Amino acid sequence: MTTSIPDTPIPDTTRTPWRATVLTLFPEMFPGPLGVSLAGKALSSGLWTLETSDIREAATDRHRSVDDTPAGGGPGMVLRADVLARAIDAAGSATARPRLLMSPRGRPLTQQRVAELAAGPGPLIVCGRFEGIDQRVIDARELEEVSIGDYVLSGGEIAAMAVIDACVRLLPGVMGRLSSGEDESFSDGLLEYPQYTRPQAFEGRPIPEILLSGDHAKVAKWRLNQAEALTQLRRPDLWAAKIASRPAKKRPKNTTEG
Ligand code: SAH
Repeated sequence: MTTSIPDTPIPDTTRTPWRATVLTLFPEMFPGPLGVSLAGKALSSGLWTLETSDIREAATDRHRSVDDTPAGGGPGMVLRADVLARAIDAAGSATARPRLLMSPRGRPLTQQRVAELAAGPGPLIVCGRFEGIDQRVIDARELEEVSIGDYVLSGGEIAAMAVIDACVRLLPGVMGRLSSGEDESFSDGLLEYPQYTRPQAFEGRPIPEILLSGDHAKVAKWRLNQAEALTQLRRPDLWAAKIASRPAKKRPKNTTEG
């Protein structure tokens, strides 16, 4: 029988480590920033693994070309469906894994999707370049298009790094305290409250007194108020979703009227 003890990280050492596989034309960009700090330490200690696969290796012609001009005309080049499909198939594994394509027209990445990806075996991530990739490989290999925001990058690599970084910090054993992921921005549909540390006064600005009071209940209430106020002000979209998800207020049980 197993019992779970809240707040006690129990890394499951029998599980194969979480794995990210990145298909890119620029494998030399990896691990890059994923090789330092939290993610980097976890990578070297084997808590997760990273594989990169060079899409160009799936090219078959003697120029090793991976792209061609867009059908119907227009600027730029398009990544070929046949080359990318071969690269995806070669990187394929026995276990079913999410197959993501980084794309500005994808569904915006959320902390909830990150948590799902972190809980699974780890994704295969295709990084686009040029004007984009041939639609037919997106359809045929059922790629899930994921965007990291409403702006256009020159390639999917930095976006893939953002996805991987967000997942890795949630893996068991990566963050110092298991609970440090729990009251962060988005975890409860709210932005995080402001944080302070020493010195007690900085350029004439003191730390809010309540944080030094030692009264945990008051501190928690203050933080919740701050988080709610910030969310209302900066992210009316998140705030509206938060309100909509609240259970309808119960009527008071005991009424003396009538
Ligand atoms: N012409 C395309 C943009 C291509 S940008 C369009 O208008 O949709 C080149 C590559 O960068 C894309 O294929 C994608 O892999 C990556 N990319 C650019 N912006 C991104 C974003 N906001 N999120 C995720 N990936 C992005």
